[in-house]
Amino acid sequence: MKYYSTNGKAPIADLHKAVVKGLAEDRGLYMPERINKLPQEFFDNIEKMSFQEIAYTVASAFFGEDVDPDALHDIVYDTLAFDCPVVNVKDNIYTLELFHGPTLAFKDVGARFMARLLQYFIKKENNHKQVNVLVATSGDTGSAVANGFLGVEGIHVYVLYPKGKVSPIQECQFTTLGKNITAIEVDGVFDDCQALVKNAFMDAELNAHMKLTSANSINVARFLPQAFYYFNAYARMKEQGKADNLVMCVPSGNFGNICAALFGHEMGLPIKRFIAANNANDIFYKYLQTGQYEPKPSKQTLANAMDVGDPSNFARIYDLYGKSHAKISALISGATYTDEQIRETMRECYKASGYILDPHGACGYQALADGLQPGEVGVFCETAHPAKFKEKVDEILGIDVTIPERLAAFMRGEKQSVAMSKDFADFKAYLMKQ
Ligand SMILES: *Cc1c(COP(=O)(O)O)cnc(C)c1O
Repeated sequence: MKYYSTNGKAPIADLHKAVVKGLAEDRGLYMPERINKLPQEFFDNIEKMSFQEIAYTVASAFFGEDVDPDALHDIVYDTLAFDCPVVNVKDNIYTLELFHGPTLAFKDVGARFMARLLQYFIKKENNHKQVNVLVATSGDTGSAVANGFLGVEGIHVYVLYPKGKVSPIQECQFTTLGKNITAIEVDGVFDDCQALVKNAFMDAELNAHMKLTSANSINVARFLPQAFYYFNAYARMKEQGKADNLVMCVPSGNFGNICAALFGHEMGLPIKRFIAANNANDIFYKYLQTGQYEPKPSKQTLANAMDVGDPSNFARIYDLYGKSHAKISALISGATYTDEQIRETMRECYKASGYILDPHGACGYQALADGLQPGEVGVFCETAHPAKFKEKVDEILGIDVTIPERLAAFMRGEKQSVAMSKDFADFKAYLMKQ
């Protein structure tokens, strides 16, 4: 499979290059040149297949030309060492729980897949030179990437995070791991961390010294595997005879997760329509209404992993539908919620069903409660476990959310990090010694 850039000015790349580079030379996002339709027979029997079997079929359609079948099989099965179940919340509203992975959020799926695919390419190259992943984080990306790559041979991860600006629950998920993960605590803000990473990629001397790569969420190896769980959700709903008028609702920030669902739809997945649920950052919602895409600075909200004012993957959606606003707005509708509405939704849902929503999932649940038509069945993604936002959730619902054991284990671990100034010279000097 070849990959082209959404900006149309970069050379065509193969999978290996697209994964290692992440972003194309013209700063566009990589798109597969073809989206293979899956045969009708697959959809006819899908409810008899396991999550891993389904995922392997989907993975083969994207990556089968570039990865040996046995290796791809192992990558998929190893990535999906946990389930993504569909659970009924209330009436015809179901949730696709994406928080059963190591860091309790959906980004685990993409991060684990990318780590294993990168390892496959390193082994194939056979020069045994260690690859170093640099990632800047304001919280959640760092933990997903660090845990996704944890213990993966041949790869070392450096997580840069702003000192005192990530929550203790987030911090422990990437500072207590040890092994091939190094946490770097930068005396600055998130933008300083990002600048250090960008400068490192551009520094010729450093790149001659060590092999550097990014694990950005726009990477094709992180975003495409997210399609796996939408196929599985369809299968599990079909098992219950509820899949005929399915509406998929995705709480969205950078729009990578919903974009993977749309790719699934292009492969033939019978979802009737999609809803992109937003917090107060309503750029896509406005685009659907007006046809104008107008990025804005992001606003801070309760659902902070969706605080994005210029969603990167809009470029992919735009490209996928030939830049047609008519096509996009026919398939996808939008919703936008204030923090006050998110709180109200969490309380209402808990009272009516006992289900504890996290602030991101709350946007998805409410968009279905507001938008489902008679005869439709809705599934929204619960993108993170409520315990990840324990302080907020406890305060809003007046409860004491139980912390799952795998999160508690991180919290008992010993914090280890390297203190760093925001000066690139210091960061470079540190890396040159590694
Ligand atoms: C990253 C994230 C989102 C947003 O996903 P996108 O793919 O960026 O749209 C939503 N919820 C949670 C909990 C996240 O971590």
